[in-house]
Amino acid sequence: MKSVVQLACLSVAFAAVINQSPSSADEYLNGIKWEPTPIITVGDNGVPSDAVVLFDGSDLSAWENADNWTVDEGAMVSGKGDARTKESFGDCQLHIEWSAPTPATGSGQGRGNSGIFLMNTYEIQVLDSYENETYFDGQAGAIYKQTPPQVNAMRPPGQWNVYDIIWTAPRFHEDGSLNSPAFITALHNGALILNHFELKGDTPFVRPPKYSQHADRLPIRLQDHGNPVRFRNIWIRETKPAQGEQVREPFLRDDKGEERPIESE
Ligand code: MG
Repeated sequence: MKSVVQLACLSVAFAAVINQSPSSADEYLNGIKWEPTPIITVGDNGVPSDAVVLFDGSDLSAWENADNWTVDEGAMVSGKGDARTKESFGDCQLHIEWSAPTPATGSGQGRGNSGIFLMNTYEIQVLDSYENETYFDGQAGAIYKQTPPQVNAMRPPGQWNVYDIIWTAPRFHEDGSLNSPAFITALHNGALILNHFELKGDTPFVRPPKYSQHADRLPIRLQDHGNPVRFRNIWIRETKPAQGEQVREPFLRDDKGEERPIESE
């Protein structure tokens, strides 16, 4: 004959079997085996140790088609022809600082116009948009002809503006059709201007945007629009999600180390 205590224990155990809902003693485990997280350092100058420095104020060795561009007091100054990086990039984080010509001359699209073409194809506008009206989806921080920035955070000509850009490259199927579009998130002088904006394609002046199959990685291109825009402190990091493999179904583990599957609701 079992004691009252034994019966009580049995009933608790029985209740535990039939009641699969998580208790406060349970730990949820996702069943993913993660790769070790890469360790980087970020220097006093703000440049992460895994960044590719595209311009540090000294020379244009990371650029091609830049024979007419110059280096002046630590800045690279746009000249005739678009400059582009020798290296190619896909998904990335890009930091770039730029300054509109001073004194300001011209108006609208003719004042301090340049542009940063991600993957040589998709332009985020560089323009002197300080007290300079133009069409909204052509001002500084716009994805040209697709969307204005959320705010105009422009500093006056001669002062430095900072773009921090998070870029997700478009993906294409083997037959050339679009698999997934490009996305961009961007900050202008620390203020969010584009939040995971889905690009409709490329950014030409003369026709609607469209996607055309291209390589997984392409250069960054800086536009020559006839205005001597200055750039400095340009670096880029290739980005990728944390790497892991789902090695088993998600499960719960109680405080005795017992594991059990997660019941569907
Ligand atoms: Mg432009």
